[in-house]
Amino acid sequence: MTSISEAGVVAAVDKELFIGGKWVPAANGKTFPVLDPSTGEALCEVADASPADGVSALDAAVAAQADWANVAPRERGEILRRAYELLVKRADELALLMTLEMGKPLAESKGEITYAAEFFRWFAEEAVRIDGGYAVAPNGTGRFLVTKQPVGPSLLITPWNFPMAMGTRKIGPAVAAGCTMVIKPAAQTPLSMLALAAILAEAGLPEGVLNVLTTSDSGGVMEPLIRDGRARKLSFTGSTGVGRKLLEQCADKVLRTSMELGGNAPFLVFEDADLDAAIEGAMTAKMRNIGEACTAANRFYVQRGIVDEFSRRLTERMEALPMGRGTEEGVVVGPLIDEAAVEKVSGLVSDAVDRGARVLTGGSTVDGPGNFYQATVLTDVPKEAKLASEEIFGPVAPITPFDSEDEAIAAANDTEFGLVSYVYTSDLKRALRVSERLEAGMIGLNQGLVSNPAAPFGGIKQSGLGREGGTVGIDEFLETKYIAVAL
Ligand code: NAP
Repeated sequence: MTSISEAGVVAAVDKELFIGGKWVPAANGKTFPVLDPSTGEALCEVADASPADGVSALDAAVAAQADWANVAPRERGEILRRAYELLVKRADELALLMTLEMGKPLAESKGEITYAAEFFRWFAEEAVRIDGGYAVAPNGTGRFLVTKQPVGPSLLITPWNFPMAMGTRKIGPAVAAGCTMVIKPAAQTPLSMLALAAILAEAGLPEGVLNVLTTSDSGGVMEPLIRDGRARKLSFTGSTGVGRKLLEQCADKVLRTSMELGGNAPFLVFEDADLDAAIEGAMTAKMRNIGEACTAANRFYVQRGIVDEFSRRLTERMEALPMGRGTEEGVVVGPLIDEAAVEKVSGLVSDAVDRGARVLTGGSTVDGPGNFYQATVLTDVPKEAKLASEEIFGPVAPITPFDSEDEAIAAANDTEFGLVSYVYTSDLKRALRVSERLEAGMIGLNQGLVSNPAAPFGGIKQSGLGREGGTVGIDEFLETKYIAVAL
């Protein structure tokens, strides 16, 4: 790490648009600043794409589609494999870059680079396993031939909270399936995606297959591309509110959609749970990414007999977390992404306290510079508190006691979201019974982390449509074609 400087990793990134395999400035010459959330200072400027640049990027993706679909699956896989190796090799530089633009501690950024790279390794292996079928028709005379083909040019939109992994989770399967892409990272964290594009080019991805648009006008640039009709797919990760709006836009030309949206994860701890494991899992589920994760535990429901001990132990752990700039040794609580995020978290905590919640630790903003909020534990949180129904997206753990299993499940399911739920119990029957009744696409059973490139990630209800990762992840970028054969 000693040879890597902050200025050096920022300087090494191409800050223009990546269109048709070339780095180009925005057509109108505009740029916008990327800020360090721990200081509020600008790290650099990147190109600010206009709608005209958007069309150029889509033109490039459309032009490259036919040739790209004909590249051998093995070669598509080899490109991903080479990109995986480059990511692993450059993990330290990329982690520093991510910490500078997003704020999370260096160790977490490093973890994200590994997680991001694993999507490329996984989909390098999936590229050569796209299957089909041949079957005898029920009448015995005809035959069914079933094959899978790339969906076609795809639009990808990613959030700031996992600036690289949310990209590789889409780019990996799109490359494996043979789709070309236009990707738009969040304006707050464009640098990781620009670095990733350079790595893919170095790994041999042909010109035009991946095109990157950085812009301060995401709606203005992306809506015309969604409504254009030549892109056949939108894969979006972000908030449910924006996802809803994009689904409406996709209806116009009936685009295939994958939607990885918001969460409001309940974390259930039963009296028979291993309390050490539950505290460990709670810390992971709450504090990964400073609480800025769609999978973050948003509501802790703890059975009455152990709620005091659980609260005391969680408070001790939260109080001890070092806060600071993500680049500093040992820091766990980095800054939130921006001032608005701090205001939101602060407002949710005040609302809960006004309604009767008690603060066990934290509960305050921190004087600047930077967007810091203290690691916080609240107890006796009433169900009317806004943070019971809204994503907190910050380091706040609200605890509510429960008496019966039915009561806990009803409280857990009382949300429009359904991304992930966590359950801690050592009773096998209860574990399976509760897991089946929880309305979520993913369950962390005695485990505070569910993300794994080899597993299907995704939500139900208003947390999304489709799955990323696992053996089903590539299907999001494939169409099934059936050929009726007369013998
Ligand atoms: P967001 O505000 O919805 O933004 C997500 C992306 O959409 C960004 O690139 C954003 O660009 C872009 N965007 C915003 N408005 C748009 C529009 N009208 N048209 C086209 N693009 C638009 O979400 P965020 O604050 O970045 O991320 C946090 C949210 O993502 C949380 O709700 C979290 O739960 C969710 N999330 C879900 C998953 C999952 O797998 N389910 C994973 C991670 C995060 P700009 O920011 O540049 O405008």
